[in-house]
Amino acid sequence: MPIDFATIRELTQDQALERTQAARAELGDRLTILGHHYQADEIVKLADITGDSLELSRRAAKVSSEYIVFCGVHFMAESADMLTAFHQKVILPDLAAGCSMADMATHEELESAIEYLESLGLSILPITYVNSSAAVKKVVGAHGGVVCTSTNAPKIVTWALGQTGKTVLFAPDQHLGRNTSFKLGVSLDQMPLWDPKIHDGGAGEDAYRNARVILWKGHCSVHTRMNKSDVDHWRATDPERKILVHPECTFEVTQSADLAGSTSFIISELAKAPAGSKWAVGTEVNLVKRMAALHPDKDIQPLSKIQCLCSTMFRIDPWHLCWVLENLVEGVVVNQIVVDEETRQFATQALDRMLELS
Ligand code: SF4
Repeated sequence: MPIDFATIRELTQDQALERTQAARAELGDRLTILGHHYQADEIVKLADITGDSLELSRRAAKVSSEYIVFCGVHFMAESADMLTAFHQKVILPDLAAGCSMADMATHEELESAIEYLESLGLSILPITYVNSSAAVKKVVGAHGGVVCTSTNAPKIVTWALGQTGKTVLFAPDQHLGRNTSFKLGVSLDQMPLWDPKIHDGGAGEDAYRNARVILWKGHCSVHTRMNKSDVDHWRATDPERKILVHPECTFEVTQSADLAGSTSFIISELAKAPAGSKWAVGTEVNLVKRMAALHPDKDIQPLSKIQCLCSTMFRIDPWHLCWVLENLVEGVVVNQIVVDEETRQFATQALDRMLELS
């Protein structure tokens, strides 16, 4: 018998966590729980494997359990489904856990952007950030393109820039695309924006013909909440404090920071920093707080005074996790993420290309 979520919602958080542990023990090695670094502490503690998008993609591909419960957002669960075997079931505890950035590029918009740009005589090599739907990854795979994460973006963009005669189209995060390409020597005037809401992208034919990298007009609503005035505040009040940010932050913020890099980079920089060092960290607040708790000998603060929380990640809570696990114990699979065969075939090509190149 399926268990109704309404009955689980009545539990206290402690009860939900206790019952989740019990269900997890009963499922044993039939279950693997994957947890993204931006998840809340109580979820991360229950995860068998934690990581950023790249680590979780890699690890998902090697997991052999029947059920993979993905504590992250929708596009990550789709990637996990594509990288695992057909008999394995990937489950997202709350289907409303999406990503506003991923929603900024649809597969229809990407198809029509490529069609228009190729009508100008360009040969487009699309790169999509992993934060995109499987349908967008399918378009990218079908056009010989590749997926990237914030960790491997420099490698992937370097590879793409080395493909003779190609113009790179980087979607959906303009900031990761701009920050990465600029570091690799591409000037800002060689990176026009493509606005998917305008039929010809809006930057003009000459800008696209002269481009090395065309940037999709998308962004992360969490990382773009941090701005240059946050950096200026720390510089003025605590000049010794180092500023460490994620490349989904704006160009202005990453340029004014001391260091910029992926979630894994942020974690490793903070781990190896000397005791007593002071940091202002520009990324999702759950991760910053976890790092501060993990390194009490260092002074780690969020860059911004605004709580930059990924509200969609936060939808994965102890109640939803308890609900999906108890249903699995009952033999009922709820919230399974299934990518259709045709999408899987092309999107997997783009994902596999990423794994080969990184
Ligand atoms: S932090 Fe930004 S990019 Fe990451 S899942 Fe949340 S909205 Fe999407």
